[in-house]
Amino acid sequence: MQIGVYPGTFDPITNGHLDIIKRASRLFDRLYIVIPNNVNKKTFFTLEERIDLIKDATKGIDNLVITHTDLLTVDFAKKIGAKVLVRGLRMVSDFEYEFQMEALNKTLNPEVETIFIMASHEYSFLSSSSVKEIASFGGEFEKFVPLNVYHAIKEKLSK
Ligand code: ADP
Repeated sequence: MQIGVYPGTFDPITNGHLDIIKRASRLFDRLYIVIPNNVNKKTFFTLEERIDLIKDATKGIDNLVITHTDLLTVDFAKKIGAKVLVRGLRMVSDFEYEFQMEALNKTLNPEVETIFIMASHEYSFLSSSSVKEIASFGGEFEKFVPLNVYHAIKEKLSK
């Protein structure tokens, strides 16, 4: 069985992430979407909220497992028997960070390959942080995120 791992913060999941998930899910028998438990990273949504939002937004794609981990991503991959990490690439500015992560992960575990899926053109400018910024200034952001995420952001901001 071919297992892929798509790691990320997903704070929150956007239509850009969703596009990568749909495309990657066709390449593997099973695709794990995994959020590292990074206690040092301040997030808008809690870990549980981010997982629930991904679960809701990806209903209908049935080869997904959505979870979190305390392990390094490569160790998580090893534990579940995956040999491939999936990352999305938007523009050249993503490249430097992704290049470094790939090299680090390759050093940590040479058996695990990272593959990159290019963002679809309509999402190549889209990030979770830009969505949160637009939303916090009262801008319209409905077209950038799944509907459940749209409502969750609205609700959190109204508190
Ligand atoms: P991380 O903190 O691990 O970068 P993110 O949730 O920001 O977590 O991103 C997870 C992965 O999804 C990264 O590989 C990122 O480049 C990719 N990604 C984020 N937004 C998009 C998008 N709009 N289109 C394609 N890939 C994306």
